[in-house]
Amino acid sequence: MKKAVLNQTKCDRSPFCGAKRVCPVGAIKFVKEGMFSGKIEIDHEKCIGCGKCVNYCPHSAISMK
Ligand code: SF4
Repeated sequence: MKKAVLNQTKCDRSPFCGAKRVCPVGAIKFVKEGMFSGKIEIDHEKCIGCGKCVNYCPHSAISMK
C-alpha cells in the first residue's frame, strides 16, 4: 500500500496545514520546535493511504509512495 510522504523542502511548515485538517485518521501533525516554529510530520503507522492530503497541500509537498 502506498503511503503519504512529505517533502520537507517544499513544505511551508504552517500550523494551519490544510492537509492536516483533511486527514481522516489524524496522521498529519504539526510538531512544535520552538516558540513560533515547527514542522509537519506524517505518521506512517496511522496513514491508511487514502491520498486525500495530496490534493490539499498548496505546495505539492505530499506524494504517495
Ligand atoms: S494519505 Fe490519507 S490517511 Fe494518509 S496522511 Fe494523507 S490523508 Fe492521512
